[in-house]
Amino acid sequence: MAAALRGAGGRFRWRIRAAAAAAAAAAVGGVRGATRRAAGRQNYDLLVIGGGSGGLACAKEAAQLGKKVAVVDYVEPSPRGTRWGLGGTCVNVGCIPKKLMHQAALLGGMVQDAPHYGWALQPVPHDWATMAEAVQNHVKSLNWGHRVQLQDRKVTYFNIKASFVDAHTVCGVSKGGKETLLSAEHIIIATGGRPRYPTHIEGALEYGITSDDLFWLKESPGKTLVVGASYVALECAGFLTGLGLDTTVMIRSIPLRGFDQQMSSLVTEYMASQGTRFLRGCTPSRVQRLPDGQLQVTWEDPSSGKEDTGTFNTVLWAIGRIPETRSLNLEKAGVHTSPTSQKILVDALETTSVPHIYAIGDVAEGRPELTPTAIMAGKLLAQRLCGQSSDVMDYENVPTTVFTPLEYGCVGLSEEEAVARHGEEHVELSQAPQKPGFKYSPRKGRLPLECAQSACRGPGVAPEGTLSGLAGAGKPEASSMTSSCYCSSLQRTGRN
Ligand SMILES: Cc1cc2nc3c(=O)[nH]c(=O)nc-3n(C[C@H](O)[C@H](O)[C@H](O)COP(=O)(O)OP(=O)(O)OC[C@H]3O[C@@H](n4cnc5c(N)ncnc54)[C@H](O)[C@@H]3O)c2cc1C
Repeated sequence: MAAALRGAGGRFRWRIRAAAAAAAAAAVGGVRGATRRAAGRQNYDLLVIGGGSGGLACAKEAAQLGKKVAVVDYVEPSPRGTRWGLGGTCVNVGCIPKKLMHQAALLGGMVQDAPHYGWALQPVPHDWATMAEAVQNHVKSLNWGHRVQLQDRKVTYFNIKASFVDAHTVCGVSKGGKETLLSAEHIIIATGGRPRYPTHIEGALEYGITSDDLFWLKESPGKTLVVGASYVALECAGFLTGLGLDTTVMIRSIPLRGFDQQMSSLVTEYMASQGTRFLRGCTPSRVQRLPDGQLQVTWEDPSSGKEDTGTFNTVLWAIGRIPETRSLNLEKAGVHTSPTSQKILVDALETTSVPHIYAIGDVAEGRPELTPTAIMAGKLLAQRLCGQSSDVMDYENVPTTVFTPLEYGCVGLSEEEAVARHGEEHVELSQAPQKPGFKYSPRKGRLPLECAQSACRGPGVAPEGTLSGLAGAGKPEASSMTSSCYCSSLQRTGRN
């Protein structure tokens, strides 16, 4: 493959010479648009668009294997004006700040439990500004760490927003409007996605925020309405409640669609027991700012046909994400997207409709929207492009965790998927509710819930007798539960 890269590079150098001639022509006014304004063109073996989980992993791996690599990353500020540094969603507005705020909320629970274990603690209020500063400083240190790692591995980093000029050329525009032309033999698109705003709800964009803003708020969001039923919605509502904020979740249909619904119920029941309010079957229709600065939300309950209102300090939209493909000019490169999801269509080798252009991570159709899979896909792609391996990413049976107050980890098929795939008569379900002593809380009234939290089940025995799914909910650290789920699943299926 390395030889193939060099061989193709020969053809590619010809293109670069042609491009250089075009750029020279541009200098005397012969070429229009980006080519005329851009200050020369730089050529790489591999160009990665998007410096998030997948893009950085791919770039670093390829550079380590000897390729000349560039990464371009640019954060378009959120509609609220929030912006952040290098590292993508997970580092800046996803897994990392989310997990830290989840941890802050869990600590609050432990502080409440502590006096029952003999710690002479007084009730302590939570200070959002202190937590936010610590979280944001940690994220900034990770941004810096990524820049240093790129430098150490001799990956060239451009803080520019990229779009395709042709199938081998990308034009990047900096914050100040300066254009840079980059060409590469292989181009990897790893531009991820951004939160979706509802377009039909009056005041949604004007007054609402998303997870892109929540983690960067300097002041407490106060009384919050979270709209959505995704894991992002429930995780945010969970830690906001845990931090002592009055939190309501508005769900149109079912929570955690795609996950095991019995386990999802455990999650939401526990959240409700901790103080999160749920408005089910409701859809917001209007957000207005009142003279005192509060937000008045009007919603409809289709089952009763009634309209209702409530006032909040913050409205957080968590209704899904849209892939970052709109501004890439993919049509100029001939890269095809799904007409329904707008995600980039890829094959098992992460190749798009153009053989030398690849897509990994959240922007690629059919991939789990998870950091570890984006990282692994990026590394394996780099290894294949460098002739080091022919391994392809296995997206089957990827374990995942939902970091709600009752953490929920699962792997493989949910009960609903197992039944749909194998038929009810072929699916054997086993459940093992547990009452782990180490999570016993002497605080009055909590014990019954602690029992329910630890319900554990192994749904989905396929006709051949293989275990096809496993899920567990407990408190805390379902991430370790997920690992053990995964291990047992692999052992039971004989793959380990
Ligand atoms: C609130 C939240 C919590 C999450 N929690 C978890 C979790 O616990 N575990 C987990 O595994 N996953 C979690 N995720 C998902 C995870 O963050 C993503 O799956 C992961 O970041 C995807 O990586 P990526 O490389 O595909 O894209 P991203 O990390 O999104 O990176 C894409 C980068 O490309 C940049 N970009 C976009 N367009 C352009 C352009 N035209 N030019 C230049 N740069 C561009 C973007 O600004 C961004 O920096 C969470 C996500 C959210 C929103």
